[in-house]
Amino acid sequence: MIAIVGGGIAGLAAARRLRANGREVTVYEAGGEDALGGLARTYGTAGDDIEQFYHHLSKSEETIVELAEELGLGDRLEWLVGKNAYYVDGVVHPLDTPWQILAYPHMSVYDKFRLGMLTLEIDVRGGIPSFDTYDDLADFEDVPIRDFLLDHTSRGVYENFFEPLLDAKFGSRKDDVSAAWLLGRVKFRGERDLLRGEILGYFDGGFAPVIDALIDDVGREHIETNARVVDLDTDDVGGNLGGDGGGDGDMIGDGNAGTVSTITVEQDGETRTEAVDGVVVATMPNVLEELTGYGCDIDFQGAVCAVATMDEPLTDTYWLNIGHDAPFGALIEHTNFVPPERYGGDHLLYVASYVQSPDEWLWDASDAEVEERWLDHVEELFPNFSRDSVSQFRIARAPRAAPVYERGYLDMVVPYDLADEVADGLYYAGMASEAQYPERSLNGGVVAGYECADRILGN
Ligand SMILES: Cc1cc2nc3c(=O)[nH]c(=O)nc-3n(C[C@H](O)[C@H](O)[C@H](O)COP(=O)(O)OP(=O)(O)OC[C@H]3O[C@@H](n4cnc5c(N)ncnc54)[C@H](O)[C@@H]3O)c2cc1C
Repeated sequence: MIAIVGGGIAGLAAARRLRANGREVTVYEAGGEDALGGLARTYGTAGDDIEQFYHHLSKSEETIVELAEELGLGDRLEWLVGKNAYYVDGVVHPLDTPWQILAYPHMSVYDKFRLGMLTLEIDVRGGIPSFDTYDDLADFEDVPIRDFLLDHTSRGVYENFFEPLLDAKFGSRKDDVSAAWLLGRVKFRGERDLLRGEILGYFDGGFAPVIDALIDDVGREHIETNARVVDLDTDDVGGNLGGDGGGDGDMIGDGNAGTVSTITVEQDGETRTEAVDGVVVATMPNVLEELTGYGCDIDFQGAVCAVATMDEPLTDTYWLNIGHDAPFGALIEHTNFVPPERYGGDHLLYVASYVQSPDEWLWDASDAEVEERWLDHVEELFPNFSRDSVSQFRIARAPRAAPVYERGYLDMVVPYDLADEVADGLYYAGMASEAQYPERSLNGGVVAGYECADRILGN
């Protein structure tokens, strides 16, 4: 039996491919039934379910689209316009079309030209355009993002456009991020409709139908919930890899320690050991470290994300970046992307912030405190907004929501096959895998799950 640790999209995708190829599989999910889907888990609404953390697809993401087609959901995938805007000094500036960008008052024409050239991946330094400077991201892996932007665009572009975005995304870690990440994002961003804005993907019914169909395809009887994997052993003499289940951790960094042979599972207050032929760890890398001692140096940031249910819209924008000293990074009005009729006519607004350290006020604040502070601030930004229009304010927290894509990141990713580093039969499909670069995504989770399944199948 192949044990899959984690019932997020990566674990489910790996399980599905292995099952489709005749392998016996069990998915162990530490959380309850509603934790299946991991970070793509949902809340109920007056209509379709909504993700607890905002989600959409980009045009460049193909593997999840193929998966949806295989699951019979291809015709439910819709490509919709997600309008972007920037809030600066009390004004919402739409930034979707060339003329909106030209009308944006906080950058000079020259700055806009330099920004435009960068987004088209044309290097105009020295006045002679070069079209291949940005082809190899590895060239920019060790270049600090600020130095890169000052050199390849202009101070105005950095200070008036990128710096507030980087503050919102990486906070105090922004200076650690590599230029390769930014260029990867430029390449990753999918398609723009010049007349309307960015085209993003979403399923009719949200991502819940995708997760449900995956669960059905794997077979619910092959998935165990409330089942936390706490230890992993090999057939080597004394081959405990250092999990909580009593390992001494002496294999840490020692290289191959035999072949994985058993896992220890805690479920319903009981602990049991199961024989395994292989293990795919499809969780954050800290779980891999707890189970095997294999440490990963990638830092993660947390996220606090609220869904406000409102009886009227706040703006007409989907993604509003706040270039302002706000206690949140963005206001993402989901029902300006997907029509409110899908949610019983309610308007749904994500209010979201990344957290760089558990010591930050936001991480420890109660839900009531977060709601009060954030809604106070929305009222300050939008004097016409009344918190009386908010009927529900639900808050989700993820201690590890996204990696900090710092310089040298690709040297720190966890390999799919950990035979050389830890043990034969051990694979890794979680967020610290290469498939989740330059941006973590559901598509990346599917790719990572497939990469592991294919290695197990010998493909
Ligand atoms: C704020 C936010 C916004 C996002 N926006 C987007 C977006 O717009 N588009 C997009 O494509 N992606 C987006 N993502 C990213 C996407 O959600 C993730 O990349 C993807 O869900 C990761 O899937 P995963 O299976 O690797 O991990 P997870 O979803 O984290 O699943 C891991 C699972 O393992 C379980 N687990 C942990 N430890 C154990 C254990 N010891 N035993 C058993 N089970 C265990 C956990 O409970 C969890 O269910 C966003 C994420 C966040 C947080």
